[in-house]
Parts: sequence; C-alpha cells; structure tokens
Amino acid sequence: MTAIPKPIHFDPIVGDPAEWIARIDVSSLNQYAACPRRFLFESRLGLDDPSHAHDRIFGTACHAGFETLLQTRNPDSAISTMESVYRSWFPPETDPDFAPKIPSIFDRSLRQFLTKYGLPNIEVLAIERPAALPLPNGDHLWTRRDLVARRPSTNQIVVYDYKTSRYCDSRWWQDQWHLSSQIHAYQYITQLQYPRTDVSVILVAFHFTKPPRLKKDGTAYANDTDCKQEMLEYRRPPWSVHAWLDWTMTLLDRLRADDARLLSGDLLDDIGRLTAYPQDFSGHACARFNRPCPFLDICAQCPNPLATLDYGRLVPAHCSRRYWDPTRGPLVTASPQPESTAPPQPEADESTKT
Ligand code: SF4
Repeated sequence: MTAIPKPIHFDPIVGDPAEWIARIDVSSLNQYAACPRRFLFESRLGLDDPSHAHDRIFGTACHAGFETLLQTRNPDSAISTMESVYRSWFPPETDPDFAPKIPSIFDRSLRQFLTKYGLPNIEVLAIERPAALPLPNGDHLWTRRDLVARRPSTNQIVVYDYKTSRYCDSRWWQDQWHLSSQIHAYQYITQLQYPRTDVSVILVAFHFTKPPRLKKDGTAYANDTDCKQEMLEYRRPPWSVHAWLDWTMTLLDRLRADDARLLSGDLLDDIGRLTAYPQDFSGHACARFNRPCPFLDICAQCPNPLATLDYGRLVPAHCSRRYWDPTRGPLVTASPQPESTAPPQPEADESTKT
C-alpha cells in the first residue's frame, strides 16, 4: 500500500480543548458510542449538516408548544407558541415545501394527543435547564431535560422528553429506550435531586403526517395514515443505572485518549491511516435514522481525512460549522436534597413560576 502523505491538518477545532471532556453531554457521548469518527467530524471539528435545519427548528417549535401546553394547560396557547417560534424562521409560503412538519399539522396532532391522553395532571418544576450529572470518577456529564414535573396525586417526579419519529407506535422503536443512555441519565440526575422519591421518565412521541384523504362517504382511504402520538413511561432500576455509569466512564476514558491523540498530532499509523476516533463498521451508524451520514464519501475514500493542508476541500460542501455548548443556560445543581419525609419540593433554582 502506498504511504499517504502527512502532515495532518485538523485546524480549526471547535471549543476549548481544555474543556472538551468537562463539557461533554449525553447526546455527544451517544454520538461517540455510535461512531467515534462522526463524533470527530461533528463535535471536535464542528462540521454540521444544514440539511437537517428544518427538522431541528420544527422540533424546537414543537418543544416550545408542548411545554406551553403543560404549563398553561391551554391548547390554543400551545399552538400559538409553536407557530410563533416556527414562523420566525419559515413563513406560510413555505408550508407546501415542508408539510407535514408545519404548524397546522402540529395543531391537528396536538388535539389528537389530548383526545387520546387528556392533559397530564402535573405541577411543572423546571423546563430545559442544563444540569451537570456527577460521575463516580469525578467527571461530569451534561444533560438537559425537556421538563421536570411532580404528580400531585402520588408525589412522583416525572421527567418529560419529546420525540418525533415516524415509527413511534412500533415495538422496536419503543423498546430501544429501555437501555437508552438518555433515560438512565435523566433518571439518575433526577433521583439525585429528589432522593427517596419515585422517579420516572415519560417519552411523548409524535409522528406528523398529512391528513388522510377522505372518500365520498367520509371514511379515509385504507392506505392513508394519520398522525400518531404515544406516551411511554420508563423507570430504570438501580442496578441498571450503575451499569450505565460504568459504561459511561469507560467511554469517557476512550474519548479522553482519542482527544489526547488529536491534540498531540499522534493520529496516524505508519502508512498514513487515521487511527484515532475509529470508524464504525457495524453497518448501522452510516445510515442512522434512515439517512446516510453526511461524511460517507470522506469515510469511504480517505484513509486520513485530515491529511491535507487544503482542509476545505475535504469538508462536504453542504456542511456548515457549529459548536454546541451543553452548559448554556441557568445551571441546575445535582446535590441531593436533605432527607425528609415531606413531599418532594423543587430546588429553589428549578422553579418556573417566576
Ligand atoms: S460514514 Fe459511517 S463510519 Fe464514517 S463518520 Fe459517518 S457513520 Fe461514521
């Protein structure tokens, strides 16, 4: 095999390398677990695929709408919040391009959700607050729960997380969450904040689709589907949470070693292949979420995608650069509350009533 010429050109990297590990969050670590090479591209070099921009903005708008629903218990306010967030990016003229992920179908789906499940009887304690989850080895993992609430009838603490997925009503989609890192992280940090309290995680999942076409008799065509909504509750036992903590710390050790090699420049073997942040060869990561990875061409063709001074030519043309800092926003501490037999109360800085 012909040797690939050095040098390595990995500049610019994003963020402050001294804080990379200190600012790692659950999603990024999941990304590293799924494919360390993609993690390198996205989280260390900051390459981002803007073709997902509409989905992200639509998801953010739906989050805002659902949070408003749980806070105000008013569906009209929820729909208007969603629409105002969405419309700050996409005017009504673009709806035909982006349907079914548009406000009118969110409206339809939210009302279907309320018919199916009703309004949850909860007291909202916190919304979208970043929190540093302490690990037994002294590291921290950042997380951001969509919403933390209390069920007054049982004093249970529930963490809400919103998802959109075409497959939200399928068994395989639902089963993936039992061992999900996100569920464990939410359960662990919330349990630290509310010790001796029953904690569970609720996924609220939506699948948006255009309304089914109706026949003359008013019934839908058999092949047309409607929007779907699911509400699923997960609760992980302590042994599972401890196993997840071990897995997390092992991954962080691997990541720390890869980061050290990136920063030292010790990344290539003697024939010029990039050996840190290994590619995933399971065949799953390259087409996660039913989409090809935006770095597929680079991965398939370049033994060392960093081995060029003309770095720009190796960045996929459709990629922009961004850096996600999970610590943005007011912090939530994870120190346990004093033990008490009284009903759990939110921490002072978690109140959303102000
Ligand atoms: S193409 Fe596959 S191996 Fe390469 S970065 Fe993407 S997911 Fe990883």
